[in-house]
Amino acid sequence: MSLPAFIAAILTLGCASAAYADTSGERDWHYRDGETAENWSAVNPRYGLCDRGTMQSPVDLSAVATRGTTRFAAAYGPAPAKLTVGPGKMKAEVDQGMGLIHGGRLFPLRQVHFHTPAEHKIHGKLYPLAAHFVHATDDGELTVLGVTFEAGAENPALQTILDAVTAGADSVELDLAQLAPRDQAVYRYMGSLTTPPCSEGVNWFVAATVLTASKEQIAAMTDRLGTSNRSLQPLNGRLVLAPEN
Ligand SMILES: [Zn+2]
Repeated sequence: MSLPAFIAAILTLGCASAAYADTSGERDWHYRDGETAENWSAVNPRYGLCDRGTMQSPVDLSAVATRGTTRFAAAYGPAPAKLTVGPGKMKAEVDQGMGLIHGGRLFPLRQVHFHTPAEHKIHGKLYPLAAHFVHATDDGELTVLGVTFEAGAENPALQTILDAVTAGADSVELDLAQLAPRDQAVYRYMGSLTTPPCSEGVNWFVAATVLTASKEQIAAMTDRLGTSNRSLQPLNGRLVLAPEN
């Protein structure tokens, strides 16, 4: 193909992948303190949805409207993962056919990344660490499972990642089942990516069960990631489904 066509094709691919992952090298946006509005559209007009969208994430999940049977069905297991570490970013990409089933459809798992502190609040509480399991269909429909961590027993998968990052490895053999709770009760609502371009239409599942990581693991993740949580966004009348309990 001609050079302009080739460049156009690359740009299109870049946009498609940016729909669920910030794969671009340099970020032109930054986190603030996790409370002050980030105002990302001032940095780049392409991020207009971040400031003007009405279905943004994260939210405080204590504003519960309805209780019901809200469980996720997913199969995660051991898989090789490609590690990417950068400012405010720690991501493990997988391509092993694992996924989450929602509405009778399979959403393939693409990557797991982390935030310190966690982004969604559960019952008004902000936890120190969250993992986001990002799933996307080939046509770009997104489902994210958020798993929250508090200080307690060490998490083996997290240690595998931290050891690999410390060793400078760019790939790792990871048992993803160790990063998700066995109890699959979740909060559910419709939201957005929590990073630019803040695309909406994301099916959010946040596990009700909080997992543990050791104090040392949480400190190491916080050290690597810094403040990497977006400020809470207004619900704007959206329905949050909470698990029965
Ligand atoms: Zn995330």
